[in-house]
Amino acid sequence: MTGPLDLLIRAPRAVTGDPDEPERPLAVGVTDGQITAVEPLDATTLAGRDTLDLNAGEVLMPGLVDSHVHVCEPGHTEWEGFASATRAAAAGGITTLVDMPLDSVPATVSADALRVKRQAADGQCHVDVAFWAGVIPGHTSELEPLARAGVAGFKCFLAGSGSPEFPPVDVAELTEALHRARNLGLPLLVHAESARAAPARLADLTAHPGQTYAGYLASRPRGLENLAVAEVIEAARATGGHAHIVHLSSSDALPMIASARREGVRITAETCPHYLTLTAEEIGDDDVACKCSPPVREAANRELLWAGLREAHIDSVVSDHSPCTAAMKAADDWSRAWGGISSLQLGLPLTWTQARRRGLGLAQVAAWMAAAPARLAGLTAKGRIAVGCDADFAVLAPEQSFVVDPGRLYHRHPATTPYAGRTLYGVVRLTLLRGHVIDPDRPHGKLLRRAQ
Ligand SMILES: [Zn+2]
Repeated sequence: MTGPLDLLIRAPRAVTGDPDEPERPLAVGVTDGQITAVEPLDATTLAGRDTLDLNAGEVLMPGLVDSHVHVCEPGHTEWEGFASATRAAAAGGITTLVDMPLDSVPATVSADALRVKRQAADGQCHVDVAFWAGVIPGHTSELEPLARAGVAGFKCFLAGSGSPEFPPVDVAELTEALHRARNLGLPLLVHAESARAAPARLADLTAHPGQTYAGYLASRPRGLENLAVAEVIEAARATGGHAHIVHLSSSDALPMIASARREGVRITAETCPHYLTLTAEEIGDDDVACKCSPPVREAANRELLWAGLREAHIDSVVSDHSPCTAAMKAADDWSRAWGGISSLQLGLPLTWTQARRRGLGLAQVAAWMAAAPARLAGLTAKGRIAVGCDADFAVLAPEQSFVVDPGRLYHRHPATTPYAGRTLYGVVRLTLLRGHVIDPDRPHGKLLRRAQ
């Protein structure tokens, strides 16, 4: 090392994103926005022009990567925009998010639409942003130009998305898309609820409006997910492509995923803070804020999802931040209320509160919420504290608790949170992007392209 570092962080407690590396004292050096040194704190001789000294109540973590965020701009900016979403992300310890291709207009299903999306995001992001592209029927020829334009990968639905711009694909189209994605070296993310089972059940619900959570839950049973996950596994097996199950709720699917992985099928899975926190038993019939699809299931299912994380059958925990206006959540009918939960800013404390209760450490949480989502999106410089990575960090006070106050959330519609009044552990003290504390008045996030 020649010359002093731009920044030296002295952290008595740090986790790197590698689940096999326990929390330990580290000195981390930053030069030109990158991590250039990582050393044991007690043996270091590093010096920096600036120094950040953490205390024993704070843990240095890699900046989180949230690979499942619906920003909705342009087209539905009144639901959520890049400025508000990325500000919420920064406040939640997230330094990179990957935007989903639907809920904005146009949906990101062509290179032209991606250009529109990037223009909308440009200059107003407080964290780095990458983009998924969508696969819809008849559009598979768009995959190659989208890959050349730097998308992180692709996303499709097997059942209705609720967005007319984003129709589902059938199993043959899924297989074709996965084949093309494999040739482009990119993953295909799948909303795994089966259309073959869904329409009949949803028709039932329309005939008998859903006034109860039990009714909504019954309309989207585990079988919809289980069938779809089985179909995705077989498409991945047939093509050799990398399929990723988004927002897994049904724990029934875990043994299938585990056995497919043992057989070498390239399948990964994520779950979300709401499936790891909420339970069907405690959701009241008025709690439409908790509506999401697939739905939150029983407490026993939640414990099996935690077991899936512990046993590494589930790779990552990401928000599926799916925002809407307060009016869209105000419907008194489960069949009409918006199906999505806004939780970008709270993902880390929600997950940590539950992990801590189960005796799990922040080393694991960093692996699920930073390293694994970065790997999925091909963001090799993100999600880890290691030499050569971007100097993106979150500083968390894990034993400090707070009560969720919607007035302190930066989401565009904070009142839609289902977590108001809940006590959570884990206060994000600082978020640094490329070595600089994120300044809410000066957005310096970049729009990222995945290297081909
Ligand atoms: Zn989503």
